[in-house]
Amino acid sequence: MKSDNINSCIRCGKCCLNGGPALHHEDIGLIHKNILHPNCLFTIRSGELVCHPLEEGLIKTGQELIKVKGAEDSWTCIFFDQKEVACNIYKNRPIECRVLKCWEPSESIDLFMRGTLSRSDIIPDGSILNEMISIYEERFPAGEFLDMFNKTSRRWEENSIAISKMISIDISFRDKFMESFGVEEAQMEFFFGRRLKDLAEAMERCLTKRASKSYPTF
Ligand code: SF4
Repeated sequence: MKSDNINSCIRCGKCCLNGGPALHHEDIGLIHKNILHPNCLFTIRSGELVCHPLEEGLIKTGQELIKVKGAEDSWTCIFFDQKEVACNIYKNRPIECRVLKCWEPSESIDLFMRGTLSRSDIIPDGSILNEMISIYEERFPAGEFLDMFNKTSRRWEENSIAISKMISIDISFRDKFMESFGVEEAQMEFFFGRRLKDLAEAMERCLTKRASKSYPTF
């Protein structure tokens, strides 16, 4: 969103409070240097809803995005030091943060959804992890899951039972994966995206806010 009263960065930190950046190919070195570790990243899977900078609302993304996580349960970027009002990785901040000028957002808008990284750019081809991610995508596609929230569907009752079932199978899948591969829970949102339970809760919040029976089609 454009800020009208300033023409340079006043280090207010508002941009960092609104959420961490999505990563682009220019940021791959930060991952290789472990400045951006899977613990501090999460994946937005194809078919999830994302905020569009030019539209007042959410759009269904047709591509995967890797983003820097929020701190605890907030959207505030995990690298933002609220006390110092400073970025903990300022010299190594991702490209979206480098180009962001809230008083003149055109460069940031140009970058939206362009040249973004996905898990396949980071996780080696042919690895067991890649294989597990493909299995997960087949079993729990985000777009199909969120489509089940279309309450105008005559099959809503069936859908709500199917949603609960998928959420519980998702939890078991993740628990088994962590146990079998010794992966920390903090990395799971990067490898498999957010839990279906979290997507469902976000969707419910979104639907309640809109007091609508369905989310918009795209
Ligand atoms: S990486 Fe740094 S500059 Fe970018 S949103 Fe996070 S705290 Fe702000």
